[in-house]
Amino acid sequence: MFNKRIKIKEILAKNPSSDQQYTVMGWVRTFRNNQFVALNDGSTIHNLQVVLPLGSVEENILKRITTGASIKASGHLVASLGKGQSVELQADAIEILGDSDPEKYPLQPKKHSLEFLREIAHLRFRTQTFSAVFRIRHSLAFAVHQFFNEKGFVYLHTPIITSSDAEGAGEMFRVTTLPFEQIPRKEDGTIDFSEDFFGKSTNLTVSGQLEGELGATALGDIYTFGPTFRAENSNTTRHLAEFWMIEPEMAFNDIEDNMDLAEEFIHYLINYVLKNNADDLAFLDSRLQEEEKSLPADKRSEFGLLEKLQLVVNNKFERITYTEAIDILLASPAYKKKKFKFEVSWGIDLQSEHERYLVEKHFKKPVIVTGYPKDIKAFYMRQNDDGKTVAAMDILAPGIGEIVGGSQREERLDRLTKRMEEMEIPTHEMEFYLDTRRFGSVPHSGFGLGFERMVLFVTGMTNIRDVIPFARTPKNCEF
Ligand code: ATP
Ligand code: MN
Repeated sequence: MFNKRIKIKEILAKNPSSDQQYTVMGWVRTFRNNQFVALNDGSTIHNLQVVLPLGSVEENILKRITTGASIKASGHLVASLGKGQSVELQADAIEILGDSDPEKYPLQPKKHSLEFLREIAHLRFRTQTFSAVFRIRHSLAFAVHQFFNEKGFVYLHTPIITSSDAEGAGEMFRVTTLPFEQIPRKEDGTIDFSEDFFGKSTNLTVSGQLEGELGATALGDIYTFGPTFRAENSNTTRHLAEFWMIEPEMAFNDIEDNMDLAEEFIHYLINYVLKNNADDLAFLDSRLQEEEKSLPADKRSEFGLLEKLQLVVNNKFERITYTEAIDILLASPAYKKKKFKFEVSWGIDLQSEHERYLVEKHFKKPVIVTGYPKDIKAFYMRQNDDGKTVAAMDILAPGIGEIVGGSQREERLDRLTKRMEEMEIPTHEMEFYLDTRRFGSVPHSGFGLGFERMVLFVTGMTNIRDVIPFARTPKNCEF
């Protein structure tokens, strides 16, 4: 059996023993003095030191132990004198599984820029930074399911191909099998979608929320966790064209319950990673400190990564209304010194610079903003009694800006249809949705957490392209 190997994460936790034989397999990080191999198999940030028996490995094998090569080594564990590790493998057999030409291997044992690594994203998993990021991404995904499962939520798989624009949340990618060379047209010249695969115009989903509501108003509590697509042409460090979103939707639940759940959820995810990815976080923490050394003092983060995460889990999020947020911005030194690029007045959609001022400069912790003007929010958000605002809530995080967007949903049929008419949303295409309000309507709410933004926050990475294996952004769809 080929896979009779022990993972490096496991072997590093074992005690030295002369009569226990182990086999490890992995990729060579470095090879020194024709004797010491630093081996990594992706199971941990740490390398295993494999010590070759001096003089007994053939010259032509030694030559093939190069950075990037894959090898198999067997031997027993001895206490290590080297620093940073308690045990090392005293090998008595070594086999090359796959060569790696050191002249051609793009990953040299030195520091590469994140930009360069993005271009070789197929190999970047082999670096310490990216292996840490993707182990943490995995842990977060696992913790998402564990959190909701513990709370009795049903994981609902909402469709990826849809025929409705859920909320006008963003530009959509069209899904079609119509031939470009000969697009069928109706008499009036418009495209005849009845000839398309689904017999109508279809898109990739921008959100699973509407279908999520259909599930929640029968199953009680549901969540979705899947890919979402937005063809928004925003080339920022926080937007992807394809990203993963977690969208819980809860019946018998109001805006306060919604905020409480979102806060508990974020705390839970961070705590899970603090507990289960301590080594990876420690590595990313020191990596960040290293990175920031080259920045001017006022550009450096106030807190280290671990310090920041501890602060977040040990403190409640600040909760303010949109109106209070505007007042804080208007009274800020930044506003008075004309530091904001975009205008500030009641009714604006908060821009990233405003969000970051609130969380990074003013409150120095995550902030939940509620009660947004109805005109900048979606039709399904519950209308407040003031006639101007809706029961929306966004969570803003330091270094990220918006990480969660949610609301209590409008459960009153008359209010909902009136709002849809005002916003020119065709109710006849949404009868299925309105049925939840016709038959046993209940107060309910939900939110969407952008998974990559959460991974950004926890890893301290600064570009969203570096926390998803293969990023899809405008003019970029490699691998
Ligand atoms: P933003 O204003 O940052 O573009 P949004 O208001 O469009 O966000 P929502 O429609 O509320 O976002 O989506 C819910 C969550 O999904 C957001 O809070 C964010 O975490 C995430 N998100 C939205 N758009 C993107 C994107 N293009 N790439 C990655 N994550 C996204
Ligand atoms: Mn957006």
